[in-house]
Amino acid sequence: MIKVKFGDLAREYERYGVEIDRAISRVLRSGWFILGPEMEAFEQEFADYLGIANCVGVASGTEALALALLACGVGPGDSVITVAHTAVPTASAVTMIGAQPVFVDVQPDTGLMDVSQVEAAITPQTRAIIPVHLYGHCVDMEPLLQIAAENGVPVIEDAAQAHGALYKGQKAGTMGTAGCFSFYPSKNLGCYGDGGAITTADRALAEELVMLRNYGQRARYYHEILGFNCRLDEIQAAILGVKLGYLDQWNNRRREIGQLYNESLGHLPLRLPAERPGNKHVYHLYVIQTTKRDALQASLTKLGIQSLIHYPVPVHLQKAYRYLGYEPGSLPETEKLAHEILSLPIHPHMHDDEVDTVIKAVKEFYR
Ligand SMILES: *Cc1c(COP(=O)(O)O)cnc(C)c1O
Repeated sequence: MIKVKFGDLAREYERYGVEIDRAISRVLRSGWFILGPEMEAFEQEFADYLGIANCVGVASGTEALALALLACGVGPGDSVITVAHTAVPTASAVTMIGAQPVFVDVQPDTGLMDVSQVEAAITPQTRAIIPVHLYGHCVDMEPLLQIAAENGVPVIEDAAQAHGALYKGQKAGTMGTAGCFSFYPSKNLGCYGDGGAITTADRALAEELVMLRNYGQRARYYHEILGFNCRLDEIQAAILGVKLGYLDQWNNRRREIGQLYNESLGHLPLRLPAERPGNKHVYHLYVIQTTKRDALQASLTKLGIQSLIHYPVPVHLQKAYRYLGYEPGSLPETEKLAHEILSLPIHPHMHDDEVDTVIKAVKEFYR
């Protein structure tokens, strides 16, 4: 019997279904499904929310990253510096366009890119850097942007887990040359299918992205560049328009739950997620670290509490990425995390008694 679910989008729909249904049926009644007023309105609203000039809706977070790389001129034979402690799609976007990912290690407490390793990883082939704002917490962007500027390399933020997160007052996805978002259903802002977006202050880059997502067309049937089909559809955009109105409230609820966990589990022999000063962590995931990870997870499962591991195998050790030539031991902090991390349930529709159940179960394990 499952007592505490890891996520609960059915509960979300129970609560907000009337509004969501109204948005969906507005699209159905309009008879217009691709590249229309819903996407345009959402792009504007999301850009305004973030405080950036341009937002381009696309079909997924992976394609947001791939198109952003292409628009920055990255292609076959180029290298892109990123991390292996991430969701594999960060790397998929790089390989999709024929480029090669180069991994730097992460900080042991935050699990985020260790920016101090980036400069040494830059080579003449380096054409972009992708910091990943993993778990809803921003990478240390100030020194990263400085290193990137000194080397003339664009920074493309993977903000797929960080909608609304702040770094020194700036929103994730607004600090680099481009910001890439996923609206996969379980993300802090998710649609009811696949979706994504790219944000940028650079108008010319945005225009290029608008062509890339739609067969390379500038005007209908006039193809200026080689392109793709990666569009955010009208139904998903309408759903996102409704949900964007709740994003801050939902992120605050995630932070409230994170705070409850922090206060209740702080005295136990495990490492809690770090939040750097000046940051607003939006707890896409609440990830603890413990050498007893597998036993703790088994004990939670027995009590009906779902937990997950994000991620059990780092990208550089995945079978598909062996061709890159990384050996076990090459990214020690990344590999250590893979053995010790555990994501506890955290989502905006979680009730206090469910949070309590998780806290009691973790405490009981260490008793
Ligand atoms: C979800 C996610 C992506 C990919 O997004 P999709 O919409 O599933 O393609 C990329 N990077 C990170 C860090 C993610 O969590």
